[in-house]
Amino acid sequence: MSTLASTTTYLDRIRRARGAMADHDVDVLLVSVGSDLPYLSGYEAMPLERLTMLVVPRDGEATMVIPRLEAPRVVEQPGVFSLQPWNETDDPVALVCELAGRPDVAAIGDTMWARFLVELLGHWGSTTRFVRSTTVMNELRMRKDAAEIAALQAAGAAADRVAAQLQAGDIPLEGRTEAQVSADISARLIAEGHDVVNFAIVAAGANAASPHHHAGDRVIRTGDIVLTDFGGTMAGYCSDITRCVFLGEIDPEVADAYAVLHEAQAAGVAAGVVGVPCEEVDRAARRVIAAGGYGEYFIHRTGHGIGMEAHEDPYMVEGNSMPIEPGHAFSVEPGIYVAGKWGMRLEDIVVATADGPMALNSSNHALVALT
Ligand code: ZN
Ligand code: ZN
Ligand code: ZN
Repeated sequence: MSTLASTTTYLDRIRRARGAMADHDVDVLLVSVGSDLPYLSGYEAMPLERLTMLVVPRDGEATMVIPRLEAPRVVEQPGVFSLQPWNETDDPVALVCELAGRPDVAAIGDTMWARFLVELLGHWGSTTRFVRSTTVMNELRMRKDAAEIAALQAAGAAADRVAAQLQAGDIPLEGRTEAQVSADISARLIAEGHDVVNFAIVAAGANAASPHHHAGDRVIRTGDIVLTDFGGTMAGYCSDITRCVFLGEIDPEVADAYAVLHEAQAAGVAAGVVGVPCEEVDRAARRVIAAGGYGEYFIHRTGHGIGMEAHEDPYMVEGNSMPIEPGHAFSVEPGIYVAGKWGMRLEDIVVATADGPMALNSSNHALVALT
């Protein structure tokens, strides 16, 4: 993973993590494989059996415990953490315990291997209370800082370029299978700068009525709506966009529904204002679709948070009354799905700012007709 952020950024994140630890009475934060480690240190551990762990005491210096053979891959961040390489014959969990002392409360990374947690329980189980790292990290991770917003913008722009190629007719559709088009889109995501492709849904005709359709050997023909929903990871941050195109002259029923969808998506984006509950974004989009007569065909939440992970907090769903904060990044992706006939979805990533919602995708929102 390339490191976009500066040492200052990591220092700031560790400082804010310590603030959250103080708020929640956490004595030590232990993060391993997963996104919290690169978020705090710029280093992404390979998901190996050998332990890599960042030990962040609330007061003392942070230390990265790492297999000696992996240590050369770490870009050191002076003042952020020190490196503690361990040898093949060392017990790395004992090393972590030494560094952490005997905490009353330890926050454990969600995606740490269970084997290491079980060993920690063996060391501390009787006196230490274990909580999830999300207690400390969720508020931080939701509120994207400037480096993260820049990374999301770059990933969004790269996905936009692929969407524009689709809408320009540069990606052949007629006579090709969904799977072939999915492979084509995936290659273009990489060509535009993504490091990995996370998904490339291509659903034609009635298949588009299944929101997470797996691209298959259905051949795309004139008269099909083609729903594409794709994204990848670029410099550690995710893109995610949905655009639909129509092969041939747009069916009037489809055009009518799409006009409602387009208005609903714009209403959802506009509702993404700081201080407004997350569920308001869902309600705003859903109101338009219901008023258009398609309410029963909008069968999922309106959006999800996005960052180092393709789906993360906050979720734009009824029941989530958490107020939107500056730096929250999320999708707005209402859909209309008529089983057996067609489906459609329109998705942008939005970042909430003090000046209002900022969409990271700007490729054409219309249902483009291709021949
Ligand atoms: Zn998507
Ligand atoms: Zn999405
Ligand atoms: Zn629009």
